[in-house]
Amino acid sequence: MMDFKALKAEFQLPDGIIYLDGNSLGPLPRGAAARIAETVTREWGEMLITGWNKAGWMGWPTALGDRVGRLIGAEPGAVVLGDTLSIKVYQALAAALELRPDRKIILSDSGNFPTDLYMAEGLIAALKQGHELRVVAPEEVAGAIGPDVAAVMLTEVDYRTGRLHDMAALTALSHEHGALSLWDLAHSAGALPVDLAGCGVDMALGCTYKYLNAGPGAPAFVYVRPGLQEHIRPALSGWLGHDAPFAFEPSYRPGAGIERMRVGTPPVLQLAALAAALDIWDHVDMDELRARSIALSEKFIQLVSQSTPELHLASPADPQARGSQVSFRHPQGYPAMQALIARGVIGDFRAPDIMRFGICPLYLDEADISRAAGIIAEVMGGRLWDRPEYHQRARVT
Ligand SMILES: *Cc1c(COP(=O)(O)O)cnc(C)c1O
Repeated sequence: MMDFKALKAEFQLPDGIIYLDGNSLGPLPRGAAARIAETVTREWGEMLITGWNKAGWMGWPTALGDRVGRLIGAEPGAVVLGDTLSIKVYQALAAALELRPDRKIILSDSGNFPTDLYMAEGLIAALKQGHELRVVAPEEVAGAIGPDVAAVMLTEVDYRTGRLHDMAALTALSHEHGALSLWDLAHSAGALPVDLAGCGVDMALGCTYKYLNAGPGAPAFVYVRPGLQEHIRPALSGWLGHDAPFAFEPSYRPGAGIERMRVGTPPVLQLAALAAALDIWDHVDMDELRARSIALSEKFIQLVSQSTPELHLASPADPQARGSQVSFRHPQGYPAMQALIARGVIGDFRAPDIMRFGICPLYLDEADISRAAGIIAEVMGGRLWDRPEYHQRARVT
């Protein structure tokens, strides 16, 4: 049994704050500041350039990749860290299209995060091979997979509503029709159990600054199924994905296995933060975490629905159909969220009307959930959001 009280103590959260936005930026693991300081002063400061070898920096993207891999059901040697999720979408999708040269359709859904769709549009424009991005409603994806589809590219958990796709079924269906299956795990990694190997997923990607708590700007991860790795020709053919980067050959040859998905120099300081975050994750059982996430989410929905009927649940009511976030709709969602934040309940807002609350059991308990629901009731019931300063839209919502 996991000791959730002890886990909560592993995070540095300001007093009086109930943090319901770990789905957007995870909080600071207590070990991270010291771990980064060590990399800065003892490694960078003392080892200088020799840190790449002596401290092992060059091997971190794959070593940490395996630790992330355990959380998403990946085989060893199938995950590497680097770049941002947007870049990894481009890279994985380009590889997928090249593996299905006779097919022109990229299938996605309207619940996908815009950057995934934008990157697909940019790739299509760059390739000029007549590809088409077909975006259907989430419930229409299964019916839209056909013999013309090269890749089915989906985000497992909808960033707005938390609606969860059936990864096993949609991956099997994609394969039945000869399409490759790409999954974005931005709101899955560290949120719920994922079984990439068991589902036979071809490629997946995700970020480490959300549920994984590796800090603002932490790198993305990419997964490629071991049997597929040697068949991929990376479109972003950077030197660190080369088979022999320090041979400085004039032409690109892809590196062995997942190494070929690397592009350039890894973000060492940010990887040090990720290492500290993974020191916590290494002890987490994802099934237990999921059970607790569901228990806390159910309590939150029940309390808010009772005390604040003007908020409409935007997430699926069935916890099995939901990720680890709970969203409500309200026409004044933006100022309402600012009023909550001003009172120490931090969630976020997604246009047009979604108030989003991430439920992360590593650092949230029943008392937090009850207090948050109480403050939500006060703010909504008393229309405390109706002040000019809460209507001022900030750059980041
Ligand atoms: C957060 C998120 C991203 C962010 O991409 P970055 O390149 O890391 O900024 C992409 N896709 C989804 C589904 C996300 O939730």
